[in-house]
Amino acid sequence: MNKQNIVTRFPPSPTGTLHIGGARTALFNWLFARHHNGAFVLRIEDTDQARSTKENTEIIIESLKWLGFDWDEGPYFQSQRTEIYNECIEKLLSSGKAYYCHCNPEDLERKRVEAKELGLKPKYDGTCRNLGLGKAPGTVVRLKSPLTGRTTFKDLVKGVISIDNDELDDLILQRSDGSFTYNFAVVVDDSKMGITYVIRGDDHVNNTPRQILIYQALGEPIPQYAHLPMILGPDRTRLSKRHGATSVLAYKEMGILPNALVNALARLGWSHGDQEKFSVQELIDLFSLEHVGRSAGIFNMEKLLDLNGKYIREEDDTHLADLLIPFFANLGCSDLNREKVKGAVRTLKKRSNTLVDMAQGALFYFREISFDKEADEKFLRPELVELLEDLLSALKGAAVFDQNELEKIFSAFLEKHQIKLGKVAQPLRVALTGKAVSPGVFEVM
Ligand code: GLU
Repeated sequence: MNKQNIVTRFPPSPTGTLHIGGARTALFNWLFARHHNGAFVLRIEDTDQARSTKENTEIIIESLKWLGFDWDEGPYFQSQRTEIYNECIEKLLSSGKAYYCHCNPEDLERKRVEAKELGLKPKYDGTCRNLGLGKAPGTVVRLKSPLTGRTTFKDLVKGVISIDNDELDDLILQRSDGSFTYNFAVVVDDSKMGITYVIRGDDHVNNTPRQILIYQALGEPIPQYAHLPMILGPDRTRLSKRHGATSVLAYKEMGILPNALVNALARLGWSHGDQEKFSVQELIDLFSLEHVGRSAGIFNMEKLLDLNGKYIREEDDTHLADLLIPFFANLGCSDLNREKVKGAVRTLKKRSNTLVDMAQGALFYFREISFDKEADEKFLRPELVELLEDLLSALKGAAVFDQNELEKIFSAFLEKHQIKLGKVAQPLRVALTGKAVSPGVFEVM
């Protein structure tokens, strides 16, 4: 395999934002390119003008950047490539590999219904195939597909796939309004951009033989294909909104770290022994298509949260503080001192699985405490007032306010009153944080 020549691509349609499935496709293409020192191309497939939006394009790009998938070329926009597509249509028409079809949609529909009634496959009957018709209003351009033989390719995940050409239609390349179909535009782009590996979801596997016929008609080399298995939720049904957030930016807003999400995405269909946790560099070093399995990947939110907690614990405090500041702002706490946030991070990173958890858990440091009713009633009992006041005056005498000194003051205090730490620790925790659960009392203090 010539490493320099590997070129992959990610071609999202901006008819929606970037979802988990798309992000997994982008990741595998990116990893494969990086592993082989190849190139990764970003192409925005915005030919469906009615459903594509600029906003979705921006969200897709922002999501890819957040995940850290940098591209070497692009973003290309299909909407800006009309001239290139037209040239290829001309080439196919003049070489007799494509033809104008004048059949009107009503006739085609009627024929489709009739074929179905006769139990035949509803495909184009080839009426205009050999008529040598020219362009006229309402005409489409069709591929003159071979009528005999088979189209076969070796999918790098699924193995050999083969289909009778007889099953394939003379598919439309250019519609009557001048727009181009997905199968045509994608082949033109992939060949012009020198794509050598097409790695995509297996919902496209049926398009592949059709696309191969277009490559052959254009006389262009056919790339390698790897169709990735579906992604399911923990209940083994296709991943959807029912299983929680699907858009990548929703995970960012939830306080998932990008590398934790990348790690979880990598495990959707790819594996390396039993290893669960990988750094991005390890993924690049280890990734190969041979280890993409045929069975569906299962996306499990609980596992992601667990993994995210591990990434949070490994993250540098200053970086976490910077990441956390916008989450505090969302909770109404702005203009925070970075050093203080860092202090809060130190007490909470052990116990938080998301940045949202962490910010919520640290709010008591930065704004007036609101008391949890149950904790208040249970632990802040009137009979403890005297004891706590005595503790307060002892604490006021602290030479320095650090954990060591606090421990000393506490042991003298407990000795004096002949009580156990348990008697004051929980009331103190509630008094300081408003809650019955928090980081360690000494740390909080
Ligand atoms: N724009 C297509 C999609 O988002 C690309 C499919 C392909 O990779 O060929 O599904």
